[in-house]
Amino acid sequence: MSDSVDVLIIGAGASGAAAAWSLADTRMRIVCLEQGEWPNPARYPTTGRDWEARGFGEYGWNPNRRANAADYPINEDDSPIKIANFNGVGGGTVLYAGHFPRFHPSDFHVRTLDGVADDWPIDYATLEPYYELNDRMMGISGLAGDPAYPPKPAVMRPVPLGRSGTRLAKAFNALGWHWWPSDSAVATEDYDGRAKCINLGHCLHGCAQGAKASTDITYWPHAVRAGVELRTRCRVREITVGADGMATGAVYYDEHGVETFQRAEVVMLACNGIGTPRILLNSTSARFPNGLANSSGLVGRNLMFHPYSNVIGIFDEPVDGHRGPSNTMWSQEFYETDRARGFVRGYTYEISRGRGPVVTALTGMGYGRIPWGDDHHHAFRRLHDRMIGMVGICEDLPELHNRVTLDPVLQDAHGIPAPKIAYRISENSRKMLEFSIARATEVMRAAGAWDVLAEAPIAAGGWHLMGTARMGTDPERSVVNEWGRSHDVKNLFIVDGSIFVTSAGVNPTSTIQALALYVADTMKRRLANLFD
Ligand SMILES: Cc1cc2nc3c(=O)[nH]c(=O)nc-3n(C[C@H](O)[C@H](O)[C@H](O)COP(=O)(O)OP(=O)(O)OC[C@H]3O[C@@H](n4cnc5c(N)ncnc54)[C@H](O)[C@@H]3O)c2cc1C
Ligand code: SF4
Repeated sequence: MSDSVDVLIIGAGASGAAAAWSLADTRMRIVCLEQGEWPNPARYPTTGRDWEARGFGEYGWNPNRRANAADYPINEDDSPIKIANFNGVGGGTVLYAGHFPRFHPSDFHVRTLDGVADDWPIDYATLEPYYELNDRMMGISGLAGDPAYPPKPAVMRPVPLGRSGTRLAKAFNALGWHWWPSDSAVATEDYDGRAKCINLGHCLHGCAQGAKASTDITYWPHAVRAGVELRTRCRVREITVGADGMATGAVYYDEHGVETFQRAEVVMLACNGIGTPRILLNSTSARFPNGLANSSGLVGRNLMFHPYSNVIGIFDEPVDGHRGPSNTMWSQEFYETDRARGFVRGYTYEISRGRGPVVTALTGMGYGRIPWGDDHHHAFRRLHDRMIGMVGICEDLPELHNRVTLDPVLQDAHGIPAPKIAYRISENSRKMLEFSIARATEVMRAAGAWDVLAEAPIAAGGWHLMGTARMGTDPERSVVNEWGRSHDVKNLFIVDGSIFVTSAGVNPTSTIQALALYVADTMKRRLANLFD
């Protein structure tokens, strides 16, 4: 058994890193347990010419397929959308695209505005200072003045639109629809010890240049220098509780596979929308037979993903190929509710550059645009460097039956029960997906595409993991309170995407990290009262 620490953080991804850095200035003894390792940029696929093929291996998206030592299996048979994550220091930010929109103010009040789901117990104004702090810590590029948002400063200039962005921007202008250069977690200037983007290639398998803001190179070096101890290859099995119902620490398997107990005054979970409910459900005791912090029965429920539509336009002239950050601009023309569309809430379009030769070939063959035989090479050439992509990130409403439970049979390498996902796409989401494909097709045609390919949902697109330990003021209808503290266990906090009440129609990481900073800050201010 180790000495007691003040704060034990579990998970070193987007949220765990932000919380650790924020808490470090208290000089408390803080330890973070992370099941994976520090990523090694020298091994990233983008360091070699075979980056596309290698992108399906060690730095691939799906943990079941990747099956690294740090990964745990997930039973996703009962879901049309499969999980994408990364288990290691930096978590999902090692692989993410770095599209970095904030929530809109309306996203915190959907029950009041649209009569669906629930309002958040906090609002945009609560998070605004933390969004700004996080933008500076991560180093976010963008352009101030987006009319879709309240005023927000830009940290550095935006990623250039390139040929593809410029072409689509003109099409949006012709249709009279909103577009704006994306807020992006890609450094366009040298920033905080990180080198600027040199257009190495797609960012979604790790950025060897260090331009993309993954937390192993943003928050963590600062947090470690400030005294936080980060222990890698340490997989937590369960959180333990004492006779008084307070958390006492966590049982984990260390780098040698030895079962170890870390005692702590405060435990903070940051394992994402799947990993966090998994640990809570595995933490059973006489006092908490249905899992820890689960008196509401909501741990694992209300899983939200963001169903994605995907529309690809094919053009006669070369557009940007596989070089450069994948995202350049967004459109939030269809973000807020308009009931005439047949669904509530809305979505963001994220515009992406073209793809490399391997993915071009796979896409062309998948959509029946590249035949075998005489025309094979000619058909490939008509697609290569001539595709622009557009995805619709659809707001997913919370539903009790979409959930994470423990698989009765499947276990990870340490024998810990693995999570099982049950998820259905709602009628509201289906209508939104159809609508987003129809409008994106109009954009592509207006931009001059001679062919348009579409799919929904993106089956591999379970990269946004939210809602499975939601926040709220009512202990019967939420797992944590309005500052991330468990209603049931007063020294247990959750800071990852699990605590989302609703998903909004944007990528979540900016909000996940703003929330983590907010929870850490609130905790610091209330430290003296923690055990009331
Ligand atoms: C391919 C891809 C593209 C994406 N693109 C975007 C994007 O453009 N924009 C955006 O906003 N988001 C994007 N995301 C999502 C983004 O990565 C996540 O929202 C974010 O990383 C979630 O942060 P988190 O702190 O909740 O969890 P994570 O970052 O997933 O971190 C959780 C950490 O906990 C660790 N852990 C879990 N269980 C245990 C355990 N039992 N013991 C010890 N450690 C444990 C894990 O190893 C992991 O490191 C993308 C993700 C992927 C995979
Ligand atoms: S395009 Fe830029 S941010 Fe993306 S991987 Fe290459 S250097 Fe990194």
